[in-house]
Amino acid sequence: MATTISRQVVVVGAGFAGVAVAQHLARKGIEVLVVDKNNYHQFQPLLYQVATSQIGISEVARPLRGIFRRSRSVRVVVAEASAVDATARTVTLADGTVCHAQILVMALGAEVNFFGTPGAEEHAFPLYSLDDAARLGSALIGELDRADLAADSAMGLDVIVVGAGATGVEVAGALAENLQLVVRRVYPHQQTGTVHLVDMVDVVLGPFSAKSQRYATERLTDYGVRLHLGSGVTEVRPDGVTLADGSVIEGRIVIWAGGLQGNALLRGSGLPQGRGGRVDVAPDLTVPGFDGVYVLGDSANITDAKDRKLPQLGSVAQQSGKWAARNIHADLSGGARAPFAYRDKGIMAMVGRGAAVAELGTRRLQFQGPPAFLAWLGVHAALLSGVWQRVGAVASWSVAFLTSHRPQAVLPRIGQR
Ligand SMILES: Cc1cc2nc3c(=O)[nH]c(=O)nc-3n(C[C@H](O)[C@H](O)[C@H](O)COP(=O)(O)OP(=O)(O)OC[C@H]3O[C@@H](n4cnc5c(N)ncnc54)[C@H](O)[C@@H]3O)c2cc1C
Repeated sequence: MATTISRQVVVVGAGFAGVAVAQHLARKGIEVLVVDKNNYHQFQPLLYQVATSQIGISEVARPLRGIFRRSRSVRVVVAEASAVDATARTVTLADGTVCHAQILVMALGAEVNFFGTPGAEEHAFPLYSLDDAARLGSALIGELDRADLAADSAMGLDVIVVGAGATGVEVAGALAENLQLVVRRVYPHQQTGTVHLVDMVDVVLGPFSAKSQRYATERLTDYGVRLHLGSGVTEVRPDGVTLADGSVIEGRIVIWAGGLQGNALLRGSGLPQGRGGRVDVAPDLTVPGFDGVYVLGDSANITDAKDRKLPQLGSVAQQSGKWAARNIHADLSGGARAPFAYRDKGIMAMVGRGAAVAELGTRRLQFQGPPAFLAWLGVHAALLSGVWQRVGAVASWSVAFLTSHRPQAVLPRIGQR
């Protein structure tokens, strides 16, 4: 017979939202079961730096049992959730264990959306998890070594990045810098190759202001990134991509930063799905018609107390977790729930060394260049959850910034084709 675990609160997913809700519930002594398929909490904003060997894996992932070591009312279960029944408030794990909750919190995040593009699933490298980043980093190093063998035939490493949002711009800028600063020295016999950045819309960094977009475009062009804007990818092949206008770009690595959708587990949960396959939640983060169910972070379409539709961002996920804990405490103690009041700190993206864009606060005060770069470093260092992670990340950033060394360019050869 299947094991059943019952808890006051079951949180599925220990990303920004799941960790925040569990930590704040633990402070009130509420019993929480946290389920995640990984034994670590991953920090997605820095994945592109792992993939480009600027920082190490341990700087973007923190063991869950370490995070909750002092939270006596939290039990961590490392297992893949294979089914969720939102009406019964149960989560079934891959081994058949059933977790039953008085209050169920879905914080499963998002997953890659290839939008049905032929060949994308087989040939492109997504960049949405630590596994993805390690696989991509390993493939990039593997391809450089392969190209080095063939140096006489003047092969360079051409990389295509699909999607010119923040992730695409950040990875394209970091790769172009690596090709210019590192590859030239470490592989002196090799042509350096080209980074191509492709998007169906005709600007980079869509959600940012025209000034930030212009700045990012200029910096990327300075780094040698070739922009292909205004024409979407219709096919990904082993040797490149085909665009909607019929042109072909050749490249041995295609990175997919082209879009996200709600986690697959939401589909069979019985919860109604809205835009992007995410669940439309009420302003208090519960799901109308589903008693005792909260959906947070990237799994939800969140409209806050000021009627703003919030984007899929780490700060939204983290704050939604903290807010949900307040409302869950109210549920369990007979209080009243309150609508989510989001504190908008703005948006930012790194383009390269000393180059970033930041639009801060609700007024979107705009910064470009070194001030934005420093703001980006400060905000991301502060968001990292452990002291040692912060120290490690800052040390690695300093090495990457001041030198052309990439001590982190040692990655297991996983998932190489
Ligand atoms: C490459 C990249 C760069 C980003 N950069 C920024 C940035 O600079 N600033 C910013 O604010 N935001 C950024 N974001 C967005 C931000 O990371 C997300 O909004 C945030 O991580 C969402 O948090 P979450 O808790 O909803 O989901 P996640 O952080 O994705 O956590 C979901 C958790 O659920 C677990 N899980 C999923 N499926 C299962 C299952 N079946 N069983 C068990 N566990 C499961 C996962 O292992 C994971 O731990 C970036 C995102 C990406 C992908």
